[in-house]
Amino acid sequence: MERTFLAIKPDGVQRKLVGEIIRRFEAKGFTLVGLKLMSVSKALAEEHYGVHKERPFFPGLVEFITSGPVVAMVWEGEGVIAAARKLIGATNPLNAEPGTIRGDFGANIGRNIIHGSDAPETAQTEIALWFTEEELVSWQPTLMSWIHE
Ligand code: UDP
Ligand code: MG
Repeated sequence: MERTFLAIKPDGVQRKLVGEIIRRFEAKGFTLVGLKLMSVSKALAEEHYGVHKERPFFPGLVEFITSGPVVAMVWEGEGVIAAARKLIGATNPLNAEPGTIRGDFGANIGRNIIHGSDAPETAQTEIALWFTEEELVSWQPTLMSWIHE
């Protein structure tokens, strides 16, 4: 079953959006298989956003991600990687559709509330970077037959 890595950034945690965000992924029918509140080290932030290290916003992004607690999560479900990106919305919250997390709660590209893996390869890398195997729980929600045919 497909898995993706999501992280509620320090702005989402500070703004008390943790419950609202988790509710949206639960309500959609995805399964939570990993969850932790954590302080992010500079090394982890730099590795996670390594693809952007030459970009002008990189130092500010690393500073922001390490500035307060982050809620790291792994979610499971058919098509969850692409679907989570849709639920999250466009990178710039000003362009994100209403109904998406960034569209509903964000107003600035540097404070866009949540991260989501963008492809199967990045999902795999990011899950392994943020979670150990033992921290992930494989389970079958009993209501699955009402979500999937
Ligand atoms: N970012 C930023 N300024 C920019 C572009 C990106 O602060 O001009 C930050 C923003 O937090 C974004 C993250 O860098 O979520 C990673 O950028 P990416 O293009 O990968 O967007 P995402 O995959 O998060 O939608
Ligand atoms: Mg990205």
